[in-house]
Amino acid sequence: MSAIHEWGVAETARQLASKQVSSTEVTQALIQRCEAYQGMGAFVHFAPELALQSAKEADVRLGAGERAALLGVPLAHKDVFVTKTMPTTAGSRMLAGYKSPFNATVVQRLMDAGAISLGKLNCDEFAMGSGNENSAYSLVKNPWDTSRVPGGSSGGSAAAVAAGLVAGATGTDTGGSIRQPASFCGITGIKPTYGLCSRFGMVAFASSLDQAGPMAKSAEDCAVMLSHMTGPDLDHDSTSLDVAKVDYVAALHQPRLGATADKPLLGLRVGLPSEFFGAGLSVDVNAAVQVALKQLTDMGATLVDISLPRTELSIPVYYIIAPAEASSNLSRFDGVRYGHRAKDYDDLGDMYQRSRSEGFGPEVQRRILIGAYVLSHGYYDAYYVKAQKIRRLIAQDFQAAFQQCDVIAGPVAPTVAWGIGEKSNDPVANYLADIFTLSTSLAGLPGMSVPAGFGAGAMPVGLQLVGNYLNESALLHTAHSFQQATDWHRRSPSLLTPGAAA
Ligand code: GLN
Repeated sequence: MSAIHEWGVAETARQLASKQVSSTEVTQALIQRCEAYQGMGAFVHFAPELALQSAKEADVRLGAGERAALLGVPLAHKDVFVTKTMPTTAGSRMLAGYKSPFNATVVQRLMDAGAISLGKLNCDEFAMGSGNENSAYSLVKNPWDTSRVPGGSSGGSAAAVAAGLVAGATGTDTGGSIRQPASFCGITGIKPTYGLCSRFGMVAFASSLDQAGPMAKSAEDCAVMLSHMTGPDLDHDSTSLDVAKVDYVAALHQPRLGATADKPLLGLRVGLPSEFFGAGLSVDVNAAVQVALKQLTDMGATLVDISLPRTELSIPVYYIIAPAEASSNLSRFDGVRYGHRAKDYDDLGDMYQRSRSEGFGPEVQRRILIGAYVLSHGYYDAYYVKAQKIRRLIAQDFQAAFQQCDVIAGPVAPTVAWGIGEKSNDPVANYLADIFTLSTSLAGLPGMSVPAGFGAGAMPVGLQLVGNYLNESALLHTAHSFQQATDWHRRSPSLLTPGAAA
């Protein structure tokens, strides 16, 4: 039998339901592993006692024959989801020690399905970043090579899953923060359609883009988690979609019309945007993606050339809209209502200024400045309004593309994970690395990263799949079929020793 830390969400749930193991045993095993790999920096807040207490309660319920889908399964949450029993920092000094009076809807729904939590996972400050180097707390090391970043902003979530510290984790994606770290750490992650998961209790970065999603070992794991994260929440989040809940696990096994056992993807048209395979894409990532595409065709899919002509514009458009919304959202952190307050100040204005200067790190301050600038009276039309218009065109480009294909495939990021420190002083280099994930977010479409081999330095490469609105089932079905035929998602970092991550 494989080791507990190799199980993932679906397998852990199966083992618990069939009473092969107790939740307490699983939780204890993972706690030990979390302690051994503490140096990886995946957790901002580690809660072993709380987890063991919940595991004990889950064991009683399991013993009584209760069957909730995630009963007793240990997960952990990105530290932008507020939690009642654990502090929430959003990776910022601004929120050090902050305790929410309520749980984020996504957290509450996973708890209602029986999941327990090992703690809160590290991330870039207010989810702004691509390498987890903007966390006020610590760096996160990539379990495949501890000299490299795990990706960001959900870097702690990706590293924790890849290293087998938790069965699965929550993440958030505003411009790629689930997909890119999933790709860099060789795990599976899905950013659903905007509005599918409630944003209630998610510390806001850019409200028209922020979306929660699962990060786990496989498409099956993601399907289990997502089925319990979604659903309308209109009393708390007016942008949450009022659509019926979907059983994504059932969708994995729903055969395509006319498909056969060896051609499960028969009839699936996979669009390849020429702009995703241009000069900016590194040779090693392209090579892995091409092998994955060949695999999809072996399973019956057909490849179709498509164009997303405004891909390049997604970078300036996103880096106008996201900071604009961030500057507005983060104005609530004034030292009065929330978070850090400076110790010494002369008057109210000085208190605001000092509290915000001390509480926010450099990247967050940069985004607030950019956001305030593009929203300012003289520049609003030139930047913000223009960006909104191009955002609409980007969304229309996708709709034109979906006339020709059912899903879109390509790389998640131009390269494999880079070295810690390599890009930390160059914000623009970080922004450019988001080129393949931003347009999906701007359009509000679901996107996924699926482990698809290895590139330079034997680092994981993800295949990105993008679907039309509310077509998460097609993405998960495609990814699951791919994972039945490949074992990239089962690989785990073999060189990981506690010493190496210390
Ligand atoms: N890397 C992008 C940024 O820094 C995306 C972050 C995210 O999706 N939260 O804004």
